[in-house]
Amino acid sequence: MIIKPKVRGFICINAHPAGCAANVDEQIAFTKAKGEVTGGPKNVLVIGCSTGYGLASRITAAFGSSANTLGVCFEKPSTDRKTGSAGYYNTAAFDSAARDAGLYSETINGDAFSDEIKDKTLALLKGGIGKIDLVVYSLASPRRTDPKTGETFNSVLKPIGQGYTAKNLNTDTLKITDITVEPANDEEIADTVKVMGGEDWELWIDALKGADLLSEGCKTVAYTYLGDKLTWPIYGRATIGKAKEDLDRAAAALTESLSGIGGEAKVSVLKALVTQASSAIPIMPLYMSILFKVMKAEGTDEHCIDQIQRLFKECIFSDTPRLDDQGRFRVDELELNLEVQAKVEAIWPKVNEENLLEVTDYAGYRSDFLKLFGFGVDGVDYDADLSPMVEVEFK
Ligand code: NAD
Repeated sequence: MIIKPKVRGFICINAHPAGCAANVDEQIAFTKAKGEVTGGPKNVLVIGCSTGYGLASRITAAFGSSANTLGVCFEKPSTDRKTGSAGYYNTAAFDSAARDAGLYSETINGDAFSDEIKDKTLALLKGGIGKIDLVVYSLASPRRTDPKTGETFNSVLKPIGQGYTAKNLNTDTLKITDITVEPANDEEIADTVKVMGGEDWELWIDALKGADLLSEGCKTVAYTYLGDKLTWPIYGRATIGKAKEDLDRAAAALTESLSGIGGEAKVSVLKALVTQASSAIPIMPLYMSILFKVMKAEGTDEHCIDQIQRLFKECIFSDTPRLDDQGRFRVDELELNLEVQAKVEAIWPKVNEENLLEVTDYAGYRSDFLKLFGFGVDGVDYDADLSPMVEVEFK
């Protein structure tokens, strides 16, 4: 079949196998060109390994540090008639490239929040690569079923305390209108913390530690976004921000519990980037379109792979990591640069439907969005008739 993008709102419901593979190859080539991560990890578990920041972490570990990797993701396999999800094709491409390079690479496809997938992971590690020296926690999910009670919680993207009205770009129609988001109630706040807070990260580390599968000095990181004034009402100081604050609590508790093996848990603050998770957040597409315009002009714009490359080299495996006063690793400093933010804030009130393509980098945002699903990648023949079926041997 000839595969063209089918975009529905903030998601693309299909993906291009060759385009996804080319994206993975591009990130691998970037990582190899950057050279070895000195003192990098050797046995890595990436929870949320198939797209965005988790995929970039897996690639950096494997191709920057020759690490064996076990990944966990939740992706839709392809059939003869339907494409798989982008993360499915990314995983196929990663597994094959890593194995070609002589590295161990296995992937478990299932609900990382469940006991079943945790148990499967422990069993696979025991029979395979053994103890882990880096655990990357990079899940982004709108819901979570508590494994103990069976109750399902949904996260919401809402402000706290009072409603918030702001400009929003409809990426389907390119209309810019004010949207008002009503404040979350207490239950919605608690539910969002339950989904995107630190509880599941702690369950993973407890399970690995309990099974003696963490090596001496093991490190674990979970990813967060803080942002600045423009995004605080809907992110940093909103329901998702509350959930992310809970990661700080979990990091402290985990570091305490890992002290016996000299281990450490750190929250890592990353830049706003187009991923399947972030494109679903109101206001973010417009904010990112402006941000990319400003950062590209400054020559400081980065993608997931650049960010994770710097996270590994400048923070996790550095003797002089960049830390904030809460002990978090920071690689969002170029986005939060005062001049960059001042320029973004100056553009924000001026954007309208007429000047969108001129004063913002919406074109770059759109291209990054389509690339997530393997579309618009250089060197890929999009008129080729190809089968959507790609085999991945998930564990
Ligand atoms: P993403 O949507 O690209 O990746 C999410 C990953 O989680 C995928 O691998 C997916 O398969 C996996 N996943 C989702 N639900 C799962 C489940 N139930 N079981 C197993 N796997 C599951 O998202 P992303 O933007 O890379 O986000 C990763 C982390 O980085 C999140 O914590 C996010 O908040 C954080 N972060 C993102 C940004 C950004 O701008 N994108 C910025 C800073 C921090």
